[in-house]
Amino acid sequence: MSRLVVISNRVPLPDKSGAAPAGGLAVALQAALEERGGIWMGWSGKSTSGRETSGIDIREQGKITYALVDLSRKDVEEYYAGFANRVLWPLCHYRLDLTDYARKDMAGYFRVNRLFAQQLAPLIKPDDVIWVHDYHLIPLAAELRQMGLKNRIGFFLHIPWPPADVLFTLPVHETIMRGLASYDLVGFQTRHDAENFAGCLKREGIGKELGQGLFEAYGHVFRADVFPISIETAAFAEAARTSRRHALVGRMRQSLAGRDLIIGVDRLDYSKGITNRIEAFERFIVNNPDSRGRVTFLQVTPKSRSEVPEYGDMQRMVAELAGRVNGALSTVDWTPIRYVNRSIGRSVLAGLYRMAQVGLVTPLRDGMNLVAKEYVAAQDPENPGVLILSRFAGAARELDGALLVNPYDTDAVSDAIARALSMPIEARRERWNQMMPHLLENDVSHWCESFLKALAGHGETKGDER
Ligand code: UDP
Repeated sequence: MSRLVVISNRVPLPDKSGAAPAGGLAVALQAALEERGGIWMGWSGKSTSGRETSGIDIREQGKITYALVDLSRKDVEEYYAGFANRVLWPLCHYRLDLTDYARKDMAGYFRVNRLFAQQLAPLIKPDDVIWVHDYHLIPLAAELRQMGLKNRIGFFLHIPWPPADVLFTLPVHETIMRGLASYDLVGFQTRHDAENFAGCLKREGIGKELGQGLFEAYGHVFRADVFPISIETAAFAEAARTSRRHALVGRMRQSLAGRDLIIGVDRLDYSKGITNRIEAFERFIVNNPDSRGRVTFLQVTPKSRSEVPEYGDMQRMVAELAGRVNGALSTVDWTPIRYVNRSIGRSVLAGLYRMAQVGLVTPLRDGMNLVAKEYVAAQDPENPGVLILSRFAGAARELDGALLVNPYDTDAVSDAIARALSMPIEARRERWNQMMPHLLENDVSHWCESFLKALAGHGETKGDER
């Protein structure tokens, strides 16, 4: 079996004991690397003070070589905080109003991709299989090809892909499309994203569809297909089942004092629809006076990307809104919203999901949304809660037992909360049984294997999406 080389913006280093860090993706990729031997390369997370980028830090652990690249402050500002997170991220989440096309950031993005290619190329052997992850690194294959690499190179986009009219507002959209066409396999989360991509190729005659998932563009034939990412379903369900041993989970249950719990868990990001969700919860309480004092909404929202200005604004907005709603609705012995602005470990999260009668997952746009899958996996099969899920999350294509909502429609989300909280146990079990077997079968290892099989040229041409 060929060696595997993974490149992603950040590298999840194992701790000193060699244990993989939390997170299904890291666990699955590390397992694949451990099996085949290989390299995981990415930015070290450190920025050096000088203008020049320094070298590469190589660490061996078992059969995996970690290659960490330090970037200069200027690189980080332009490549990461600039083009990746103030152009590609909002653009791919359909937020043209938040994109900021600065030429120097675009230049920085392509420069850092070239740098990654230059650092990586000497480490590559002729039959290595290369797997590049996410929007930070779209041009990487084109750079490697220019340097003469003939290896099989795959790319997986973890976020949505926009329709042509949105993409074409990007001044360098041609270079981005050419970048994607340089891979042998391009993977998307949903059929919808893959169709948008095909539409972008066709619109300006950039490329054509050859059938069976194959495309030709810029003189290169490549495959584009659907690989919905997932979680370690069985392990997560087990973590939820045994979560009682965590003191924090016990304290949470006690503090609820028999009230129903609604849970929301999202990085602080404008794509997650957190303010719309708080408004919908407020509407639910106002429209259902009986629920006063009887329902608690826990919103867990760790800070993220604080170096990007829109995220600082978001943080203020969410905190102010949660404060206003609590001010208006609280009584001396009841606070409707508990807003936690920091990260909670996954095993405690698993317990909180299991405790919650409702998982409220209402992003305005999301590549997949793993929280939705985790919420389902964590439920007690005898007495499962109800998932309320945005139709604009990739996960909505698979989780057909959820109550699907339009997150922009405050009344509809409020009605869905009322429906979920009063849903009889048989209906809840039926909905959960519609989803859990699919999640057990299509877990993150399955995702990883299907992508690598397709990249090796033996995969099916159809994605696993339902
Ligand atoms: N997460 C966590 N602690 C938190 C909040 C989130 O471990 O306090 C995890 C969560 O369990 C999930 C991931 O972060 O695995 C978020 O993934 P998702 O696909 O939902 O959203 P993303 O942040 O990747 O946009």
